[in-house]
Amino acid sequence: MIKTYDDIAVQVLRCTESPAKLICDAASQTMHQHIEECPNMYTLVKFLLNSEHHSVFEHASITFHLRGISRSLLAQITRHRTFKFTSSSQHYQDYREYPVVIGKDQFEKYREFYGTAFACIYEVYEELLKTGVPKEEARQVLPNAAGVNLVVTADARNLINFFRQRRCQRNVNEMIQVADAMWGHAKTWFPELFSIVGAPCFMNGKCNQGHMQAESCKNAG
Ligand SMILES: Cc1cc2nc3c(=O)[nH]c(=O)nc-3n(C[C@H](O)[C@H](O)[C@H](O)COP(=O)(O)OP(=O)(O)OC[C@H]3O[C@@H](n4cnc5c(N)ncnc54)[C@H](O)[C@@H]3O)c2cc1C
Repeated sequence: MIKTYDDIAVQVLRCTESPAKLICDAASQTMHQHIEECPNMYTLVKFLLNSEHHSVFEHASITFHLRGISRSLLAQITRHRTFKFTSSSQHYQDYREYPVVIGKDQFEKYREFYGTAFACIYEVYEELLKTGVPKEEARQVLPNAAGVNLVVTADARNLINFFRQRRCQRNVNEMIQVADAMWGHAKTWFPELFSIVGAPCFMNGKCNQGHMQAESCKNAG
């Protein structure tokens, strides 16, 4: 079954309650013997962000459920070492039950190539399983596009780092779509912080990618 990045589902499983209050309470502890009520959490959170007093943001965390991402995205997102991950296993699960995930525009343009390649790969995977090859060996023929589901837990500090890197248009389309969806949830969860967090151009008004700047940004001037 062929799916596109538009079919990826990003949900929140759990998150720290009242994250701004918790972070402001922690910050208050630095200045007072007892925790004092913060009169303006938006202002304090912005100050903490700009002054790089980021360790306080580690008190708040959020767990996402990503469904229908590709193995390519799995390889990229798991580079974020400070996140915690649990993914579907290719050892125990039958990957005929997962979709393959590709970009919609590419699929529409090259439908025949993709269709032929995936049909061939999954036929071979099925034959290997039927022959008695264990799933964890048969999986070696699966493509980068093979779908996978993932549980990801991130603290707010490292989410800042993630959104700075991954909401940048230099990233691949799948990553941008997933990061944008995660950011939407993060903003609802902790608006005092995440409404002012994004790629460097969003946060500082200036791109930091030099000659590697995305073509779409160059063209936008
Ligand atoms: C546009 C783009 C292109 C990329 N291309 C490639 C590529 O071609 N090849 C490739 O291999 N990777 C590539 N990457 C991945 C990139 O190099 C990082 O591995 C990935 O983005 C995770 O970033 P991170 O280490 O900051 O995150 P995390 O691992 O979550 O770390 C968060 C922060 O914690 C701190 N930290 C974590 N671990 C350590 C440590 N051991 N020592 C000191 N401080 C630490 C750092 O401050 C770090 O920024 C690319 C990333 C992007 C955004």
